[in-house]
Amino acid sequence: MLRAGEWQVDVSNSSVDIVLIGGGVMSATLASMLQIVRPSWSIAMYERAESVATESSGEWNNAGTGHAGLCELNYTPPQPDGSVSTTKALAVNAQFQESLGYWSHLVQAGILPEPGAFIRSVPHISYVTGDKDVDFLRARYEALHRDFAYRSMVYSEDRDVLTEWAPLMFQGRSGDAPVAMTRAIAGTDVNFGELTRQLVTSAANSGLDLFTRHEVTDLQKTATGWRVTVKNLTDGTTSQVDTRFVFVGAGGAAILLLQKSGIAEAKGYGGFPVSGQFFRCTNPELIAQHDAKVYGQPQLNAPPMSMPHLDTRVVNGEQVLLFGPFAGFEPRFLKAGSLFDLFKSIKPNNLKTYLSVAKDEFGLTTYLIKQVMLSHTAEMDVLRDFLPEAQDSDWQLHKAGMRVQTLKPGPNGRGKLEFGTEVVTAADGSIAGLLGASPGASTAVSIMLQILERCFPDVDLADSLGDIFTQRLTGAAPSENDRLAHEDVIRDVLGLEGYGSAI
Ligand SMILES: Cc1cc2nc3c(=O)[nH]c(=O)nc-3n(C[C@H](O)[C@H](O)[C@H](O)COP(=O)(O)OP(=O)(O)OC[C@H]3O[C@@H](n4cnc5c(N)ncnc54)[C@H](O)[C@@H]3O)c2cc1C
Repeated sequence: MLRAGEWQVDVSNSSVDIVLIGGGVMSATLASMLQIVRPSWSIAMYERAESVATESSGEWNNAGTGHAGLCELNYTPPQPDGSVSTTKALAVNAQFQESLGYWSHLVQAGILPEPGAFIRSVPHISYVTGDKDVDFLRARYEALHRDFAYRSMVYSEDRDVLTEWAPLMFQGRSGDAPVAMTRAIAGTDVNFGELTRQLVTSAANSGLDLFTRHEVTDLQKTATGWRVTVKNLTDGTTSQVDTRFVFVGAGGAAILLLQKSGIAEAKGYGGFPVSGQFFRCTNPELIAQHDAKVYGQPQLNAPPMSMPHLDTRVVNGEQVLLFGPFAGFEPRFLKAGSLFDLFKSIKPNNLKTYLSVAKDEFGLTTYLIKQVMLSHTAEMDVLRDFLPEAQDSDWQLHKAGMRVQTLKPGPNGRGKLEFGTEVVTAADGSIAGLLGASPGASTAVSIMLQILERCFPDVDLADSLGDIFTQRLTGAAPSENDRLAHEDVIRDVLGLEGYGSAI
């Protein structure tokens, strides 16, 4: 049997080295890496939609937060002794630094020609009210700001200072209830749709074959890899392509394709779809008065990705203000998916996983039902916790992407709901897929590096991708001077004026 990494190039009309299923940020990132480490390999990308980045990676379908643990309170859970755990925040931060380092590398190499179109600095703010949450935020700040990555973070309970940071949130705010914020100017707003398009365009210019309106409908194991069945959605014809390696970057629909592959590693897994909606502000005067991503505390039983946040974003040159997300339930795995997706994913090998999660996660189910039933007035009340003077007429609901949470098989076939990202790889390294949606696009680089390491062990990443990855690959901690120098490069190359611990 061929080991991963020993593959020979064997290109004919119906065979390619690599098949990427889906044109989202994950496949696009992997395509860029493969073209760096193995420029001679042929790559085909199949996307069922008209163009790439129309599902979760599309700019209007996600929140565009460069997740670095600067403002997301769920990454620092409170501990029984009143302290907070920083493990998750530091891990997410390190993964995002990897993304920033890699994107800088691609900008310098001319692969991402317009960094300003996909990333910009925006302050990240955490916001809490009430004594208990103020104590929590203070403890969070004290635990985090000692770390290099959080040095730019500042904390305040002073309403004058908070009003300067987020003036719109203090208009019409009455009473003297305790309120506190942290603010980190190192935060970023990322247009993952634009990033995906720039990556795919460059990859296509370097030889990647992009097939839009082509849906992968089946995967069969062959002696040397996989036979991939593809349906052309324009003319209805079906064709097959042989490949050495398949990446299932199909977003929420990945579970369905991994099941079709029949690999043992995907057995027992299921998917639980959570839909999302954002309010979009239509009043230019309000939009101009806010400049931050402000994350609050999640409601009781809310899934971690449903923390309410008020986001300044610049989407395709236009400044916008979004609030949300409001979670909901739809049985489809993609925004343009089928209402039967959830039912199709239930198999004898994962039935126990589904049933046990349905029983154990009653709180989440109740929360989602309540969210679906939430009236417009109740949704506006959630917004008014952030913006006391918010008027119904200034806000319109808009539908975001689907997030399919992973139902992971546990001991005795009992399942567990996972809110993170799960990389599923076959033992022979011939297929890999991605389940789950959080922390998501921000960690695309680190996740795709994991896939390269697992499936292409002979590829020398340090040699091919440069200094940025030396730390990851050797496990050596960089000196403070090295980190500062690295930050300087990122700030200059990506044009992030607020970025860096020395700011
Ligand atoms: C509401 C919401 C908010 C989010 N906010 C953030 C955030 O602030 N920051 C962050 O970092 N992440 C965020 N995320 C997560 C992030 O958007 C996702 O993790 C990321 O976009 C996933 O990328 P992907 O390439 O795996 O999937 P997608 O972008 O969904 O791409 C999958 C592609 O595969 C295609 N496809 C599916 N099946 C097939 C098939 N059989 N054949 C061919 N093509 C197929 C689909 O059409 C789609 O284009 C958010 C997600 C949501 C939904």
